[in-house]
Amino acid sequence: MLKERIEEYKRGGEKIEALKSLIWRLAEELGHIKIMNFCGTHEWTVVHYGIRSLMPDNVELIAGPGCPVCITPSYAIEKAIELSLEGVKVYTYGDAYRLPSLKPVKGVRSLFEAKASGGKVDVVYSFLDAVKEARNERGEKLFFGIGFETTAPSYALSFCKGIVPEDFYFLSVLRLTPPAADYALSKVGKVSGIIAPGHVSTITGAKPWREIARNHSMPVVISGFEPLDVLISIATILKMIKEGKSGLVIEYRRAVREDGNKLARTYIEKVFEVSDAAWRGIGIIPSSGLELTMKFSEYDAYKRFSIKKPEAKEWVSDLPKGCKCAEITLGLAKPVDCPYYLKSCTPDRPIGPCMVSSEGTCAIWARFGGGGLAEEIAKEVGVA
Ligand code: SF4
Repeated sequence: MLKERIEEYKRGGEKIEALKSLIWRLAEELGHIKIMNFCGTHEWTVVHYGIRSLMPDNVELIAGPGCPVCITPSYAIEKAIELSLEGVKVYTYGDAYRLPSLKPVKGVRSLFEAKASGGKVDVVYSFLDAVKEARNERGEKLFFGIGFETTAPSYALSFCKGIVPEDFYFLSVLRLTPPAADYALSKVGKVSGIIAPGHVSTITGAKPWREIARNHSMPVVISGFEPLDVLISIATILKMIKEGKSGLVIEYRRAVREDGNKLARTYIEKVFEVSDAAWRGIGIIPSSGLELTMKFSEYDAYKRFSIKKPEAKEWVSDLPKGCKCAEITLGLAKPVDCPYYLKSCTPDRPIGPCMVSSEGTCAIWARFGGGGLAEEIAKEVGVA
């Protein structure tokens, strides 16, 4: 058994070596190539497996806006904190539990701190768990509804099945990824190709990413999340650039179908409608959010608690002063460019939203290397 595992390990290493050689060959004479890995989970793979260290000097991998916690606007967290302190039971995913708000609410800056101060907050694994618990909970309840296209169907299904109790309100901070990719591309300047999100594409299918490839005349590859998937996707993008091709390729064929998941999209369309939406630190991106339709408005936390969404014309950044999450989210900066990174801002004491979730670029870099004292020493002794 052990022998087989060692052989398998060696074969994996040989494949990585072969892909690395191919990437180096393809990158020769290409000039500077910037590839955006849109999704936080891809950034996790890139950093965790040291994929940047395998790239030739002219191939730069940059992270994109694909972390739902990082882009959740501060007004939503502040309102959830306030309501929890006023006795409304707030359910949240663990990811958003420590998400810091810009302004303190009664001295409190996260749902974690709100709970420590006597606020009613429960961490749940799923919306369904929250629905089940909420049925036995007296008084008003609220779900802090973050997520992208992958999370939206689980909310939609519960609403369609009619199992959500009547005094359970949904604070939608659901966001759509293709409009954000489009927006990021318009800000970053020259990006040569995109590694598109695999999980999101299981729902959306290929169409929105094909449109982005066409509109920006670039290669876009929907990729899986194993290191080999990411390396294959990088090689594919380089090969397409070398051959002067643009368009969409699905590398993650074992999970992504051309049409995505029609049933999941049908449920989403029954419950939610598309709206302009705020992305933290960035501003309002047109048609990038989901809000409950009139049919389900009795569950709408915005209506029940008179929550005002920011307007584009009055938008001011909702990041703490000096935090570079907006630039990092748009691929314009790296965590090491932030003066707080691994100094005053750490995973245990996050200042900005990118340091919280397992999909946040700062949190990933902090946990698996990427700047900091260890890297400085490793560079000094020549092992970085
Ligand atoms: S290190 Fe902290 S303050 Fe700096 S960009 Fe990242 S999350 Fe924001």
